[in-house]
Amino acid sequence: MSASSPLVALVGRPNVGKSALFNRLVGARRAVVEDLPGTTRDRLYGSARWGAHDFAVVDTGGMEVEDSGAFTALVREQAKRAVAEADVILFLVDTVTGPTGPDEDVAAILRQAKAPVVLVANKADNPERQAAARAEFYRLGLGEPVAVSALHGTGVGDLLDQVVALLPLVGEESAAAEEIAIAIVGRPNVGKSTLLNAILGEERMIVSAIPGTTRDAVDTVAEHEGRRLRLIDTAGIRRRGRIEPGVEKHSVGRTQEAIERCDVALLLLDGTEGVTAQDTHIAGDVAKAGKGLVVAVNKWDAMPKDANWGGFAQLLLQRLRFAPWAQTCAISAQDGSGIDDLVRYAKEAADARRVRISTGELNRVVQRAVATHAPSSSSAGRLKVLYVTQADVSPPTFVFFVNDASLAHFSYRRYLENTLRSAFGFRGTAIRTVFRNREGDSRGGS
Ligand code: GDP
Ligand code: GDP
Repeated sequence: MSASSPLVALVGRPNVGKSALFNRLVGARRAVVEDLPGTTRDRLYGSARWGAHDFAVVDTGGMEVEDSGAFTALVREQAKRAVAEADVILFLVDTVTGPTGPDEDVAAILRQAKAPVVLVANKADNPERQAAARAEFYRLGLGEPVAVSALHGTGVGDLLDQVVALLPLVGEESAAAEEIAIAIVGRPNVGKSTLLNAILGEERMIVSAIPGTTRDAVDTVAEHEGRRLRLIDTAGIRRRGRIEPGVEKHSVGRTQEAIERCDVALLLLDGTEGVTAQDTHIAGDVAKAGKGLVVAVNKWDAMPKDANWGGFAQLLLQRLRFAPWAQTCAISAQDGSGIDDLVRYAKEAADARRVRISTGELNRVVQRAVATHAPSSSSAGRLKVLYVTQADVSPPTFVFFVNDASLAHFSYRRYLENTLRSAFGFRGTAIRTVFRNREGDSRGGS
């Protein structure tokens, strides 16, 4: 299962046939079991293919709970997680029992989901049940159910057709994900054009120019060790040496646009000029945009003899306090030194942006961190972290479900972010943490 495959989640009450359908979709491929701490259930992941589409399937099911009240709460929680994580949600219901109270509860949650939800009426083993399914489940407000029999396989092909029709957007994204968009940004005359030429020359890449989105921007797409690099040049090779009035202002807009479009920004500084306010300003924009950041100190060949990288790097990191995760290096675009490292850092940052951490692993790490260093309590109460899930990649985005998000103070958020970084890396890229209240939580914190 690749980190970027879209995720299809199976949600539904126990015994509706989730595991039967999971097995149909995943077939003989190996499934991965993920234990969820503090619960009796586990999640099953597998990979599936239909036509040219690859996707991951998660069975949120596998629970052993006798008490029906508890199982309703669990199914509800499962539905919320699917809403947070999945690209497509398959909501399974049972045509033998017809719609039940818990089905209605889950439907209410799923109606709020951003991801598309497909209502699947299972156990429609014969034409009578297929017809009944269509009539009965319409009232769940999730559209026309797809009648299937996970047991016999009928209707599963139609279901898969629907699922993959909902995937293309995601699929295109993951195909494009193989390409790394790198913006070369920095003040005028720091050496951006020289660097672009040096990268292209040194790496002996196959180069083709593709018109960018602004009139005069040209992206250079190059192949490097099997990876496509899209170099977004904000200087413009053609403008080299020509500094006209108004260029500065124009280039600010271009820098912003390039940052928006990139995965990783290569921020170039002129080492002979030190670290200027404008340099840190651009770095701040990159961090705010949630992108990868590699800071290259250029013209190192022209530095005074006694210049030392350790000292410079320390100063640089001080100025980049808001982005301690940024990668830094010294280069000379002119003589080519340091450029290998630069390209490698950019690729590593791009890969780090696409990492997906399993919910089980995340919760283990975060629960340990909370136990080691508990949130302090105030008159307003004490923050409780109920669970955390990764909602997105590029940048990796983590949603912390808590009792009261207003109690999550800056320093504690930073502590949790540092915890994620020391456990999982994310070197070279911004990550995001989001704190949400979990409503209707009756089990208290974990
Ligand atoms: P889950 O644990 O909720 O995912 O449900 P299971 O996959 O374990 O299925 C529950 C029961 O329903 C099992 O006895 C299955 O054999 C049965 N079942 C699953 N799919 C079908 C179906 O399409 N038709 C019929 N008749 N039974 C089914
Ligand atoms: P841009 O405006 O950021 O695209 O900068 P250019 O690539 O046009 O370079 C500006 C000036 O800096 C030119 O005169 C380059 O020759 C010079 N330059 C670029 N890289 C280096 C370097 O690594 N060392 C030295 N000494 N000069 C450089």
